[in-house]
Amino acid sequence: MTTTNEFDVLIIGGGPAGATASIYAARNGLRVGVVYDGVFGGIVSSASLIENYPGFPDGVEGLELGERLRRHVENVGAVLINERVESIEENGRNGMFTLHGLDMLYAKAIILSMGVNYKHLNVPGESQLIGRGVSYCATCDGAFFRNRTVAVIGGGSSAFSSAEYLANIASKVYLIHRRNAFRAEKVLVDRVSQNGKIQLILNSVVSEVLGEKKVEGIVLKNLESGKETTLPVDGVFVQVGHVPNTQMVKDLVDLDENGYIKTDEEMKTSKKGLFAAGDIRHGALGQIVTAAADGAIAAQSVFEYINELGT
Ligand code: NAP
Repeated sequence: MTTTNEFDVLIIGGGPAGATASIYAARNGLRVGVVYDGVFGGIVSSASLIENYPGFPDGVEGLELGERLRRHVENVGAVLINERVESIEENGRNGMFTLHGLDMLYAKAIILSMGVNYKHLNVPGESQLIGRGVSYCATCDGAFFRNRTVAVIGGGSSAFSSAEYLANIASKVYLIHRRNAFRAEKVLVDRVSQNGKIQLILNSVVSEVLGEKKVEGIVLKNLESGKETTLPVDGVFVQVGHVPNTQMVKDLVDLDENGYIKTDEEMKTSKKGLFAAGDIRHGALGQIVTAAADGAIAAQSVFEYINELGT
C-alpha cells in the first residue's frame, strides 16, 4: 500500500529540468513528487528578461516563467513539496530511496535536478559584504541601487544582461572582465557596448571589495600592467559563472572534476535508480531549453526503469 510520502519518482529541484521531468512523468501515470527549496523555477527566477526561450517572442521575466512552471506542474497532478532535502539514502527495500528533509519521503527513482548556484570571487571583503552591497542577483537587489554606482563582474551572458538591467536603475554601471573577449551572446555585447551608462573595464580583476558596514569600492588589478587602482562603487554584482549543487550526492554518484554529475544519454547516473537532468549535469549547455529537454529524457528513462522494476 502506498502512503502519502511514497512516490514512484521524486524530483529534486523546481527549475526547468525538474519541472519538465515532473510534467512528463506525471503524464505517464507515475506518482510524482517535486521537492524544491525557495521559489519555484530555480535560478531562472532571478533572470530579468529571458529572450531566447522559444515561444516568447517578447521575452519573459524569470519570476513569471518560474510561476508558469509551478502552475503547469501543479496542473498535471505532481505533488509540490517545498522543503530542503538534506540527504538521500538507499533504504534497503528493493530499489527504494529515502529522502531526508523536514519529512521522510520514499521513491523508487530519483531525478537530481538541483541545478547550480552562483560562483563567488573568493576575494577579501566579498563574503563579509554579501547583502550589504555584494549581490549575485541583479533582479533581486538592483532596486537598492537607484541612482547609485555599481560594478558587474564577468564576461558571460549573465554579466551582460545584469549590466543592461542595472543600467535602467543605477546612474553608472562598470562591467569588469578579466579578458578582452566575451562569452556573452553577441546581441547582448552589442547592446551593452552602445549603452551610454555602461563602461567596460577589461583585462582586470577585482582583488578586494572595500567597505566596513557596506560596499564603498573595489580594488581592481589590471592584468596587463599589474597596476592596482581603487574604484568607488556602491554595489558589486558578481556574475562569474556557477557551481553545481551536488554536495549532497557527492558520495552517491560519479561527478566530474568540477563537481557536475556524470550521466549517459538517457540521464542515468552511475547509481541505479538515480537520474540527473539540467545544469547539474556534466556537459550541460546551461540553457533553459536544454535543461527542459534533459528533464523530458530523464522522465522517459525513469518510466522505463520503473516498468522494468515491475513493483
Ligand atoms: P559563463 O558563461 O560561464 O561566464 C562566466 C564569466 O565569468 C566568464 O566571462 C569568465 O571569464 C568569468 N569568470 C569566471 N571566474 C572568474 C573569476 N574568478 N574572476 C573573474 N571573472 C571570472 O557564465 P554565465 O554568464 O552565468 O552564463 C552561464 C550560462 O547561462 C551560459 O550558457 C549562458 O549562455 C547562459 N545565460 C544566457 C543568458 C541569455 O540572456 N541568453 C543570460 C544569462 C545566462 P572567462 O570568459 O575569462 O572564462
